[in-house]
Amino acid sequence: MDRLEGIPVSRGVVIGRVFVLDDSTTRIRRRTISAERIEAEIERFEQARAAAMDGLNRLYAEAQRDIGVEAAKIFLFHLGMLQDKTLIEPVRAQIREQRVSAEFAVSEVFRAWAEQLAGMTDSVFATKADDVRDLTNRLLAELVGERQEEIERAGRDAVVIARDMTPTQAVRFGRAGVLGFATDLGGRTSHTAIVAKALHLPAVVGARGSTRIAQTGQTAIVDGDDGVLILDPDEPTLSRYRRRMESARTYQVSLGELSALDASTTDGVAISLMGNIEFPGEVDDVHEMGGHGVGLYRTEFLYLTGEAEPTEEDHFEAYRRCIERLAGEPLTIRTLDLGADKYTQAREEIPERNPFLGCRSIRYCLRSLPMFKTQLRAILRASALGPVKMMFPLVTSVAEFRQARLHVNDVMEDLADQSIAFDAKVPVGMMVEVPSAAILAESFAREADFFSIGTNDLVQYTLAVDRTNERVAHLYEPTHPAVLRLVRQVIKAARRQKIDVSCCGEAAADVEYALLLIGLGLRTLSVTAGSIPALKRAVRSVDVKTCERMAAKAITLDSAAQVSAFLRTRARTIVPEAFDGRSVE
Ligand code: PEP
Ligand code: MG
Repeated sequence: MDRLEGIPVSRGVVIGRVFVLDDSTTRIRRRTISAERIEAEIERFEQARAAAMDGLNRLYAEAQRDIGVEAAKIFLFHLGMLQDKTLIEPVRAQIREQRVSAEFAVSEVFRAWAEQLAGMTDSVFATKADDVRDLTNRLLAELVGERQEEIERAGRDAVVIARDMTPTQAVRFGRAGVLGFATDLGGRTSHTAIVAKALHLPAVVGARGSTRIAQTGQTAIVDGDDGVLILDPDEPTLSRYRRRMESARTYQVSLGELSALDASTTDGVAISLMGNIEFPGEVDDVHEMGGHGVGLYRTEFLYLTGEAEPTEEDHFEAYRRCIERLAGEPLTIRTLDLGADKYTQAREEIPERNPFLGCRSIRYCLRSLPMFKTQLRAILRASALGPVKMMFPLVTSVAEFRQARLHVNDVMEDLADQSIAFDAKVPVGMMVEVPSAAILAESFAREADFFSIGTNDLVQYTLAVDRTNERVAHLYEPTHPAVLRLVRQVIKAARRQKIDVSCCGEAAADVEYALLLIGLGLRTLSVTAGSIPALKRAVRSVDVKTCERMAAKAITLDSAAQVSAFLRTRARTIVPEAFDGRSVE
């Protein structure tokens, strides 16, 4: 039995069969093939080689244009290597003679070659080792990508263990019926983690060493409550976890009973609990859990799950389905937040070096106007069907907000010219998720119709901590005093300018943090459906004065650890069951 600690990102416990997902950067395991498969396997290799060459040819053409003929020659060198018989023949020979998979043969032959080059004293040769590694990854991406589809078919009831996972992969696994997953890398609010929650897939990230130790086919427990991965559990551990799964079911049922009740504090202040969704079907989850309305619809998932760019009709259809299900409750549509970990950088021929600070979100939309306007048209058309609000992600300057809003006005004019119905008063708001927006909240509040505080990014950008990096996960602290001050400032500015303000970051789903936000003046929280019942229970157990006292004290403390400890102690006295209801260990 092996027990690995990681970061809990999606609640629940599952017991299943391990499926280790190889990717191009992990060691490729030796997979032997039958004699009949040899020719097919060589053909796979040839197809991967052809696809890699296509990609390189495109890259070469672009590089010639963007970085100059001389610098672009590096790609000619890569293309040359892919046609070099001394490199290609040994791969074919390995597949044929040793009966191994194409990816294994590629990784072995290319690795040996890279090592040979790296060992040369002439530095010109030594640097070529990096080129060979790059090329290896390119070929493996073609081969492993294909293998992933194979895994998806085989994935039902499996626990997937991977080095890392993209949000798109997580969606695919969810569809393929996997039970849960664990990864070596990743942080608490990475989008893969958010998808796991949306799909109710218990997940642990940052469980370092998991792909090295785990073996496909063995039994594993993914404990998404405590952030533990147990491989090959012994019988007492299995039965302890089975009991725990049973009591978690009982706790969930007890929370389910709250669904029809109001989310009002004991002194009668209504708190609006809304849902964060990635897919229209999740509106039903929000209702089932006792939430009303959607405070954040992450529309970029329309983009990430299909093969092609979504059309206006694809957008409209998704919004229509949400609006229909919401039956009069508001739908807050966030315009495409592509980029960083939510755009397959792999699709870019030249990936950004620092994508979280790159051309993402509203910046990306403002540079891809046809795509942006397609979405705006669909949102505006949908606004004729029910209460819709729209908001822009990652706004960093007032000028940027104005620019985006001008495009909304343009699209409105077009629709009016074409006599297509829309709500001319559709509220246009923004996410407050970067420090510049929080610091200038007062100015933004004069322009925007509402604010939605995005703590996931606000924490990352305020503390300079990558939200997807497990190495700095311990520094990712929503309770950091700097973050609290920014949040307080945003709420105050919104209240002064009399615009709505809510929080849709993951932190709002923590009972103690939610009480703090209420104390700071928030009356609307938007969280993943599964987190709504516990929040409702907390709201119904407290009065606003108590929350205000908690917030007033928390903001005077000068470390995240102190704030967390204080909030937890106070929240535990208010809703003890939120803290010991789940875990029975
Ligand atoms: C946020 O940043 O807090 C947020 C809600 O947006 P996302 O997690 O999609 O970046
Ligand atoms: Mg964000």
